[in-house]
Amino acid sequence: MSMWEETKKFIKQTGEKLGLSQGIIERLIEPEMVYEFTIPLKKDDGSLQVFKAWRSQHNSLRGPYKGGIRFHPEVNEDEVKALSALMTIKCAVVNIPFGGGKGGVRVNPKELSERELELLSRAYSAKIAPFIGQDKDIPAPDVNTNPKIMGWMHEEYEKIKGVKEPSAFTGKPVCKGGSKGRVEATGYGGVVVLEKILNLKSQILKLDGSPTIAIQGFGNVGYHFAKFAAERGFKVVGVSDSKGAVYVEDGLDPEATLKCKNEKGTVAGCYCKGSVCDVRFGKTISGEELLELPVDILVPAALEGVINESNMKRIKAKVIIEMANGPVTKQAHDYLTKKGVLIIPGILANAGGVVVSYFEWIQGRQGWRWGKEEVLTKLADVMKKAAKEAWELAIEGRVSLKEAAYLLGVRRLAENLV
Ligand code: NAD
Repeated sequence: MSMWEETKKFIKQTGEKLGLSQGIIERLIEPEMVYEFTIPLKKDDGSLQVFKAWRSQHNSLRGPYKGGIRFHPEVNEDEVKALSALMTIKCAVVNIPFGGGKGGVRVNPKELSERELELLSRAYSAKIAPFIGQDKDIPAPDVNTNPKIMGWMHEEYEKIKGVKEPSAFTGKPVCKGGSKGRVEATGYGGVVVLEKILNLKSQILKLDGSPTIAIQGFGNVGYHFAKFAAERGFKVVGVSDSKGAVYVEDGLDPEATLKCKNEKGTVAGCYCKGSVCDVRFGKTISGEELLELPVDILVPAALEGVINESNMKRIKAKVIIEMANGPVTKQAHDYLTKKGVLIIPGILANAGGVVVSYFEWIQGRQGWRWGKEEVLTKLADVMKKAAKEAWELAIEGRVSLKEAAYLLGVRRLAENLV
């Protein structure tokens, strides 16, 4: 089942549980608008290449559409629709006044020069400019897009519109109106949720000493998750990226590992403990082996569908925190939940990014700048509240945490239709 089919199924089942009519359920499932277009790009060698691109505006019942833009060779319409629907639910779970949106370009950005990447980003922004804006649809970064790209897109948007509109994009560089704390927000928010849930669950699940963690994906989300988790006494023993993985039994140093990855181009071979990197500390493993490590907590922070029918029986973690969007398929979720694995859903766990995007949107509109401490403190409050609400619903309704988070989000959405 594709992620879009799975997401639709989750919303449908939740709607039925809440006693919503079929009409309302359909209203909550189908995107309000999906734009599909092409972007012709003149390459450095003079040739022309055409890229397919999308923007899905899923639901605006609670506010303007909000969601990232992904650059990836596997982007497709169904994926963009699914990710936009997850944004709708996510914004409702953390109770911020946005709906859901998502965009993407089917491209491998690693094959583009810096100049080509800038041209593509500006062209994407020009295509969606008529349909977005700070009260309509506010894009942000996602996989393979970053503050620099948001800066280009935002600049292009303002040029076309002929106005200054600071909150039309979020995830911008801080010097161009971005919020302090946005870069680390998703990883930090995930660690806050993890701690809160472990705390609430402490009578049922005891993790001894410093619980061990393995993280798939060492990009923005995975690195910051590792950094904050290590600072709070968790032991990060394994990390992976698209080119390989490392295992350091005594716990690795996330900052030294990032420095090593930046030098080598991959985490494979980065055996960094206590800021020293030495081959004696660890071993190189495959990305698949990383997912199956005997750790307390597994953190998929790369792409969707990575824990599925083919590997679910070999997963040994007691807790899985979905930092990517949709990394655990429905089949794997049901199987692992039945086995007693606690799965903290992405619509709760990875909402930190959109919460700080919301703070950036407020700061842009107010012409005001908040300090990083202020941002992270406010973020932690929002994440802890949402985690507690979802947890209580799960206990009360005797459902999994994922089902409870859907109940929380879908109920808030449906309140706008009665
Ligand atoms: P990123 O591009 O910064 O990093 C992605 C990382 O995943 C890279 O290290 C890449 O090498 C790695 N990766 C790719 N394929 C892999 C594979 N097969 N095995 C192991 N590693 C692999 O992206 P990001 O912003 O960190 O986003 C990661 C995930 O988190 C995505 O699913 C995204 O939708 C989700 N997310 C991101 C944010 C955010 O604020 N950035 C917010 C919410 C959710």
